[in-house]
Amino acid sequence: MTTKRDYYEILGVDREASAEELKKKYRKLALKYHPDRNPGDKEAEDKFKEAAEAYDVLTDPKKRQVYDQYGHQGLEGNGFSGSGGFDDIFSSFGDIFEDFFGMGGGGGRGRGRGRSRVQRGADLRYDLTIDFEEAAFGTEKEIHLDKRQTCPTCEGNGCKPGTEPEICHLCKGTGQHTQSQGFFTVRSTCPACQGRGKSIKSPCPDCNGRGQVAVSKTVSLKIPAGVDTDSRLRLNSEGEASPNGGPAGDLYVFITVRPHKHFQRNGDDIICLVEISFIQAALGATITIPTLEGEESLKIPAGTQYAETFRFPGKGIPSLRGGRRGDQIIQVEITTPKKISKKQEKLLREFEKLDSEKFSNRLKNLLKGSGY
Ligand SMILES: [Zn+2]
Ligand SMILES: [Zn+2]
Repeated sequence: MTTKRDYYEILGVDREASAEELKKKYRKLALKYHPDRNPGDKEAEDKFKEAAEAYDVLTDPKKRQVYDQYGHQGLEGNGFSGSGGFDDIFSSFGDIFEDFFGMGGGGGRGRGRGRSRVQRGADLRYDLTIDFEEAAFGTEKEIHLDKRQTCPTCEGNGCKPGTEPEICHLCKGTGQHTQSQGFFTVRSTCPACQGRGKSIKSPCPDCNGRGQVAVSKTVSLKIPAGVDTDSRLRLNSEGEASPNGGPAGDLYVFITVRPHKHFQRNGDDIICLVEISFIQAALGATITIPTLEGEESLKIPAGTQYAETFRFPGKGIPSLRGGRRGDQIIQVEITTPKKISKKQEKLLREFEKLDSEKFSNRLKNLLKGSGY
């Protein structure tokens, strides 16, 4: 038999704790140990489940009564078996996360003494342009951001160290201002506290009571091989600080890849156009081709046609999802000389004559073959 911790102890409340208190403590723990914020941390996950189970039992008056009387054993085999699993935790406590992360939309409506809601900090966008090769092989970059951070002097509460914020006199801590206009009740953000629900008598000297300071921050970015224009990287919690003690926003880095003088990209393949002369196309040739890793030679067979393509397998871009690297596709463009010498012209005329003789012979044979 496993020993289970006391539910009240888990949530850090006394045995007379009200539903409001339980919710408050649970929110705190849930935020701290939420799996999204502690990826891969088994201990945090266990703590999260433990808190969820304690909250589940203590907020249910029937279960709580059984627990108070008989402890953990009372709940076992009584149809009250703790929580039903991880997914259940999210479904049954969804409402808490909703108002927690500011998605509830209710703005504290219907909550008697409602507190001001905890908000997530704003997400930030940073546009980063990188070279074609950097996108192909991956790179590391340092970016400089100006953003708002929780003030280190007052740890975000906006008060001069040694003092405490007071409940706002106008909104009584709700952060909302209610006005009656005829039949309507209009709610707006409290003008006295800007929705914080608190008022500050002696503001922190470093942030002037705002709880946040502007900082310039350098963030190191690992850009994986295979990114392309419009790829987006997300850095957790590198956005702006929350205005009231919630989690920070995220930083989104939008990538733009500079065009390359030789290459164009088509998914993981790269396409390069090479010009060859009509003589090379007719006679065949070995030509030098730029690749992402230096030059390589390509043998063009005699009789190559306009826009014909050749392939260097595995010389393209590594796939962002892992797996096979793309190809380099070489497409030939055949050029015609704009100026030729007298002698070249004479030779070409001769070529033309031979060519038309060959053509008329072929035509004659064709006509013969068809019975004319
Ligand atoms: Zn401060
Ligand atoms: Zn107020």
